[in-house]
Amino acid sequence: MSDAALDPAETLRVELGDRSYDIAVGGGLLAEAGARMAPVLRQKRAFVVTDATVAPLHLGRLTASLDAAGIRHDTHILPAGEATKSFAHLESLLDAMLAAKCERGTMIVALGGGVIGDITGFAASVLLRGVDFVQVPTTLLSQVDSSVGGKTGINTRHGKNLVGTFHQPRLVLIDTDTLTTLPRRELLAGYAEVVKYGLIDSPGFFAWLEETGAALIDGDTAARRRAILTSCAAKARVVQADEREGGVRALLNLGHTFGHALEAECGYGETLLHGEAVAVGMLMAFELSARMGLAPAADVERLRAHLAAVGLPVVPPRLEGRRMDADILVSHMASDKKVADGKVTFVLAHGIGRAFLCRDVDPAVLRGVVADFVA
Ligand code: NAD
Ligand code: MG
Repeated sequence: MSDAALDPAETLRVELGDRSYDIAVGGGLLAEAGARMAPVLRQKRAFVVTDATVAPLHLGRLTASLDAAGIRHDTHILPAGEATKSFAHLESLLDAMLAAKCERGTMIVALGGGVIGDITGFAASVLLRGVDFVQVPTTLLSQVDSSVGGKTGINTRHGKNLVGTFHQPRLVLIDTDTLTTLPRRELLAGYAEVVKYGLIDSPGFFAWLEETGAALIDGDTAARRRAILTSCAAKARVVQADEREGGVRALLNLGHTFGHALEAECGYGETLLHGEAVAVGMLMAFELSARMGLAPAADVERLRAHLAAVGLPVVPPRLEGRRMDADILVSHMASDKKVADGKVTFVLAHGIGRAFLCRDVDPAVLRGVVADFVA
C-alpha cells in the first residue's frame, strides 16, 4: 500500500490475485510519480508514452519526478486523437520501444487520455511477449473508466477496439490536477461515464451527483476526487467479479449499445464525443426500459433533467441539418461487438441504480424509441 509520507492521495486496490494493483487518486501526484512507481519497478527504467497535446502540459512534471527517483527514461510522443489507435501507430510505437532497447523489466508508462492508455497498454502487452505498464490518465474519462480494468486495443477499418488484449496495469496514478487543463467539453464527456456508475447500481451516488455535479464540473476538486474514487471503486468491483467480461462486466456497457450506434453515424469525432454518445445512449436505454414497463417514467425524467442541467446532450445531433435514420441506427446495434448468436444484449434498468442485462428486447419497441429520439 502507499507510503504514508506520500499522502494525501487516497488509494484503492483492485484485487485480481497476482494481477492486483493500486489506484492512487489525489492532487499533485505527477510530481510523486517516480516515488510512487518505485515499489512496482523491476529495473530503474521507464518508457513514457504520451500525446502531443498532453506533452507540453504535463510530461515535464512526470519526467522530473522520474529523474528525482533515479529512474532512467525515454519518451515517445504520439499525435493526439482517436486516429492514433491504429496498426500504423502501434507499429511505430513498438519500433520506438525496441529501438530504445526496452527490456522485460522496463516499465511502460501511459500518460494521457484513453487513446494513449489503450494503445500503450496494447503495446506493453505484446512487447517482448508482455511487459509491465502504469496508467497515468489525464482525462476524466480515462480516470474513471479506461485506465482501470485492463482492456487495451486499437481500432481497425472494421470498427473500434476490435483488436486488443486484456493486460492489467501494475499501478494507476490519477493526478486530479491534470483536469485543470482539460477542455470543458472533454470533462463533460467523462462525466457521463461517472453518471453511468450511479445508474448501474448506486442510486445514492446518483443523488449525490444531482447535488454536486455542477460544482464538480466547475472545478470543485474535493468533489472531483470523491467522484473519481467512487467511480474507480465501482469499476474495480465489476472487474474483480468478471475480469474478462463473461457476465456482469457487461453492465458497464449501459448506454453504449445506443451510444456506439450514434457514434458510428457521426464518424467518431468532434460531432459527437464518446461520452456525449453515452449520455444520449443511457437516456435511450432508460426510455426503452420505461416503455417496456420495467422502469418508472419519473426516473427517465430525472436522468434527462440531470444530463441537461450539467450541459450534456439528451438528443442525438443533427448531421448537416439532416436527421439520423432509425433503421440504420438499429442495424448498427445488431453489429455491435457484444452481439452473441445474433442477439444484442441490452443493458436496461428497473430504475436509477438498478441496471440489468436483457437479451429479449422487442424490436418494435426498440425501433420506436430510436425513431422518437431522432425525430
Ligand atoms: P483522448 O485520449 O483522445 O483524450 C481526449 C483529448 O484530450 C485528446 O485530444 C487529448 O490530447 C486531450 N487531453 C488529454 N488529457 C488532457 C489534459 N489533461 N489537458 C488537456 N487536454 C488533454 O480520449 P479519452 O476521452 O480520454 O478516451 C477515449 C478513448 O478511450 C477511446 O479510444 C475509447 O475507446 C477508449 N476507452 C477505453 C476503455 C477501456 O476500458 N480500455 C474504456 C473507455 C474508453
Ligand atoms: Mg465508455
